[in-house]
This record gives sequence, structure tokens and C-alpha cells, in this order.
Amino acid sequence: MDDYILRAENLQVYYPIHTGVFKNSYVKAVDYVSFEVPRGKVFGIVGESGCGKSTLGRAVCRLEPITGGKVYLDGEDITTLSGDKLRAIRKKIQMVFQDPYASLNPRMTVFQIIEEPLRVHHLTHSKEESEQRVLALMRQVGLDDYQLNRYPHEFSGGQRQRIGIARALAVEPEVIVADEPVSALDVSIQAQVLNLLAKLQKELNLTLIFISHDLSVVEHISDQVGVMYLGNFVEAADKDELYKNPLHPYTQALLSAIPIPDPDKRNKLIPLEGTIPSAVNPPSGCKFHTRCPKCMECCRTIAPKRYQVSDNHYVYCHLYDDKN
Ligand code: SF4
Repeated sequence: MDDYILRAENLQVYYPIHTGVFKNSYVKAVDYVSFEVPRGKVFGIVGESGCGKSTLGRAVCRLEPITGGKVYLDGEDITTLSGDKLRAIRKKIQMVFQDPYASLNPRMTVFQIIEEPLRVHHLTHSKEESEQRVLALMRQVGLDDYQLNRYPHEFSGGQRQRIGIARALAVEPEVIVADEPVSALDVSIQAQVLNLLAKLQKELNLTLIFISHDLSVVEHISDQVGVMYLGNFVEAADKDELYKNPLHPYTQALLSAIPIPDPDKRNKLIPLEGTIPSAVNPPSGCKFHTRCPKCMECCRTIAPKRYQVSDNHYVYCHLYDDKN
């Protein structure tokens, strides 16, 4: 059995542009990304808005068209599967979406929402069996039996996200991709949903890909963390290693911006100039060079190679060239 349940190799997701100044070029949302996720672990993906992290999550679930590269799920190449074969892998990998208000059909009751995947995948064989299974899933995520026939608008944001989690769990997947699952929620509710995800991940030995722009949230839940910038990972490592010893200037800048509620332990803020450049026309060389406080001449023209610091820690930066 492969130690890595999910692997991506040189994955590309490009969107063609048909009009305007950049007609006939592409938005390179995910640009030659390779990474692997160990079975039963939580892999956090972090980065600013527009860095491609959500597109990457959707692409590995086969919810976005893949332009190039490969995705392997449990050792099987799922990059080009379609029809029944694609439907079959959806039993293994499910997604929890960012917006609990938009991701639930307002015309369906909780029962219908959670029962739908059971029906599509022929996992239950009678209404009674479906109802028992849906009730069990609702209890698992902290919802009450009496809420079975209620509609999404009758629930709070946190409860709706619980419904979304129950729907994802219905087919007993091995991998869940959670795309900013708490960012639309109040802070107090965020903690409850985060703790629920962490509990379910442990109890069910799920592999969780947790996508967020919030480094504190990612630190709380992840075993390993990958940092994305403009369509690529720039650094990835075990969580403790990354937060204690960040090597990439972008990771260092992100971590320096985490507020610490202790006046004696303030971080020295590393300011990042400007905004994330356009994925249509990314900077040459290192894509981060336009904002990097440590930029060197070579960074403007030569893309950095992957430097493997240790088994689970790698970084793409010319500062480590002499160590390669
Ligand atoms: Fe900065 Fe150069 Fe490293 Fe890119 S390669 S992060 S520009 S030092």
C-alpha cells in the first residue's frame, strides 16, 4: 500500500482568456505543482487570496479541468477518469466547501441533502435504511434528530457547515478536501467546527487537506503544511518544523504577521510590498522576486529549484542554492 494516499505531479490548471489585452493567453492558477499527502494525516495548504490553493483543492477532487500533470489517489491515476470511473473515485475523495450558505440547496431538507450521495452511490436500499444512516451522520457532526426535515435557512452558519461535513462523510471517503471551511463563520463558531473536523479526522482516520489563508487555523489542525504563492508551493514541511524554522522569505513574512497576544513576545513584522502579481503574466525567475526583501540578481531571471532540507521539508529559493 502506498504511504501517500494522494499525489500530484506537475499539476497544471490553466484557464484560457478569450478577450481583452491578454487574449489567447492563460490564467495559470496552478502551475506545475507537485506534492504528496500521507495517509491519515492533515495537510494544510496556506497562502494569500488568489494564490491558487482553492483551485488546487478542486483539481485534485477532479472538480476543475486539469490542463497537465497527474493526480494519483490511492496509487490510481485519476487525472483523466470520466463517467462511472470518475463517479467511483468520488466515493474516496469528498469536498467541504467554503460557503455554507451557497453550498447547500435551499429547496432540500437536511435529510435530502445528506441522503443524496447515499442514493447516487447506491449505498442504502430503502427509505428506512437511508433515514437511519442520515440520522447517524447528523449525530456524528453534532446535529439533533429533530432537525432532519428542516431547510438550510433554518440553521446558523456553523450548523450549515456541519450539514456540509455530514454530506461529505456520507460516502465514507478516505480523503476530505476542506476549502476554507471556517472562514465564513464567526470566530467562536470557527473553533467548534475546527475541533469537530479534528475529532472526525482522528476517529475515522481520514486524510484531510485543509485549505486556509489563516496560518493560526492551519497550525491548529495540520500535521504538515505547504505554503503556496502564485500557483506554486514555495515551501512545505511538518507543521512544527515550518512554524519554528521557516526558510522561504514568503513563509517568514507570513509567520511574522501572526498576532501574538503577549506584549513581551511580539514578532518583528516583515513587511511585504505590493500585492500578489497577476497569474496571467507572472514575474520571470522566482515569482516572488517582485516582493521579496532578500531578492538577488539571479532571482529575476532564474526560477529556483527545490531544495530538500530534510525528509519532509523542502523549499524553493536561491538562498539555499549552495546547499544543493
Ligand atoms: Fe527571494 Fe530570491 Fe528566494 Fe525568490 S529565490 S524567495 S526572490 S531570495
